[in-house]
Amino acid sequence: MELWYTEKQTESFGITAKVKETFVTEKTDFQDLAMIDTEEFGRMLVLDGMVMTTIKDEFVYHEMVAHPALCTHPNPKHVLVVGGGDGGVIREVLKHPQVEKAVLVEIDGKVIEYSKKYLPEIAGELDNPRVEVIVGDGFMHIHEAKDKYDVVMVDSTEPVGPAAPLFERGFYQGIFEALKEDGIFVAQTDNPWFKADLIQKVNKDVKEIFPIVRVFAANVPTYPSGLWTFTMGSKKYDPLEVDETQIPEIDTKYYSPRLHKAAFALPKFVEDLCK
Ligand code: SAM
Repeated sequence: MELWYTEKQTESFGITAKVKETFVTEKTDFQDLAMIDTEEFGRMLVLDGMVMTTIKDEFVYHEMVAHPALCTHPNPKHVLVVGGGDGGVIREVLKHPQVEKAVLVEIDGKVIEYSKKYLPEIAGELDNPRVEVIVGDGFMHIHEAKDKYDVVMVDSTEPVGPAAPLFERGFYQGIFEALKEDGIFVAQTDNPWFKADLIQKVNKDVKEIFPIVRVFAANVPTYPSGLWTFTMGSKKYDPLEVDETQIPEIDTKYYSPRLHKAAFALPKFVEDLCK
């Protein structure tokens, strides 16, 4: 008997993956959590029926949340990751030796617990001495932090449930105030095929708050449509003005100094969303 996991990405479209083994299915205090092993993409974390990360393609998303911002800021010492309980973004952040402290604020401790147990390749750096893990609401944390971070990364779930406030204008204003005077923030901002309105709204809100706003994209095969966007807001440094010859070669599989600016070259229909 074959078992398949299907993610409905819209009411009438989805992806499906053949399942080898199911490790965990649990209703946490915040969401339905599943940890499964799939033939094609290996072990996979699923939250509320949505693929969060897989062993085979996780490097794309985690590298692209972390490195464009950290290679734009000249000296990122203090970094915050909101969400990101699987640990993948933290792992990438720690590849930058200038980072003295990386704070992770993840609302659901079970995501951290099961990621450490079943996804050690991704979560392995959560116990690094440079990392502080806080199990809490990123929305609250941001509003209590003033002039504190060089870079803030929002690695949250879709704008539903506990993540809904993380896509509101007030949250971006809070991030602006939590950042130092030359800080940078980056957030995952979903896909242009099924969530064009979200990309447009976030872009409009962030442009009202930050002087420099740039959108970039990457290919994440297990995310809806495979074309994933990220929105960067910066108080001082423009990622398109970085001298890529000065970007260090980092231990990566997707991001590179050559891809840094190229990632910001968007398909026309996506550019039009960000006018
Ligand atoms: N890469 C994934 C994506 O693009 O959908 C996100 C992965 S990460 C596992 C998302 C995390 O955000 C989840 O573990 C979820 O618990 C967390 N999260 C959601 N709302 C949050 C909030 N308000 N504060 C902190 N973490 C939150």
